[in-house]
Amino acid sequence: MTNTMSTRVAILGSGPAGLTAAIYAARAGLSPIVIQGIQPGGQLTTTTDVENYPGFRDVIQGPWLMEEMQAQAEHVGTRMVWDHISAVDLKSRPIRLTGDSGTQYFADTLIIATGAQAKWLNLPSEEHMKGRGASACATCDGFFYRGKRVAVIGGGNTAVEEALYLTNHSHDVTLIHRRDSLRAEKILQDRLFANSHIKIIWDSEVTEFVGGGEPEALIGLDIKNRLTGEVSRIDVEGAFVAIGHKPATELFDGQLKLDSDGYLEVETGTTKTSIPGVFACGDVMDKIYRQAVTAAGTGCMAALDAEKYLAAQEFEALAAE
Ligand SMILES: Cc1cc2nc3c(=O)[nH]c(=O)nc-3n(C[C@H](O)[C@H](O)[C@H](O)COP(=O)(O)OP(=O)(O)OC[C@H]3O[C@@H](n4cnc5c(N)ncnc54)[C@H](O)[C@@H]3O)c2cc1C
Repeated sequence: MTNTMSTRVAILGSGPAGLTAAIYAARAGLSPIVIQGIQPGGQLTTTTDVENYPGFRDVIQGPWLMEEMQAQAEHVGTRMVWDHISAVDLKSRPIRLTGDSGTQYFADTLIIATGAQAKWLNLPSEEHMKGRGASACATCDGFFYRGKRVAVIGGGNTAVEEALYLTNHSHDVTLIHRRDSLRAEKILQDRLFANSHIKIIWDSEVTEFVGGGEPEALIGLDIKNRLTGEVSRIDVEGAFVAIGHKPATELFDGQLKLDSDGYLEVETGTTKTSIPGVFACGDVMDKIYRQAVTAAGTGCMAALDAEKYLAAQEFEALAAE
């Protein structure tokens, strides 16, 4: 027999956006459920030091912060479900979600908080050096490399913005790009070329993240010139991979409006998607800021938007009686 679960508010994703939405929805008396997905706690569980989430004077640990957020959401009345959603029908009322577990979820409103994963080069040495000098977020980790040599890998807007941002902390920034020209907008390129703290290595790809010391930390990158095949090493303590993000929106393709990069489109200044009663928050709808605190902020907005939607529905139903 198929298991079923009904709720007024289903929240898809348990990162800062989903858990903040849960806290607000629970405190509004909506008894939400959070379907956690395969990464309970979201992306912050993959990092160590977090120094920019407000409220903590000392550095905190990403996994600890997410445990606290989950405990807070549960404390105010959220039900956590360990499942991954593999199909959705957003047009049916109630909205229908199907989990890998076989459970069918029925929800009056849905808050989507499925995040966006950074793309990596997928080198074993890169994986090994994550948290030891390899990062995919200069805004998050640049501060830890004050006065150190750093590199950015990529050639689009994000890579150029990250290189420019890093010059706030380092006067030795190297941009490594596979081609002989950048894809970034011209205005960003102009700012990059005018910045004396940034040098560029063209036509090259990183083949190895090199660690050393005790405790082990990044000491350099091996780089292969794609035209000559020559491999050389540059000495850097931080390497920022900036080759794009992949929003987790495959489930909604064909049902909700996505932008050209696959992010969920929302009505400006709200979390309303193209289907009434379906809201989106966090990195899955934000390709600009992608921070825990902005995800939490839009999570709060989504819960408030969902609460207003449900109240309006109830009022209409009463008026129609
Ligand atoms: C290594 C690293 C370090 C970072 N450091 C910082 C930092 O110091 N400060 C900062 O502010 N930000 C930092 N960030 C960015 C921050 O983690 C993200 O901006 C934030 O986690 C986005 O929150 P979110 O809730 O939108 O999505 P996520 O945290 O990505 O969570 C997405 C959730 O959706 C779930 N999910 C996805 N698909 C499904 C599905 N089909 N069914 C059910 N669930 C699903 C996942 O299981 C997950 O729980 C860092 C990111 C990384 C990768």
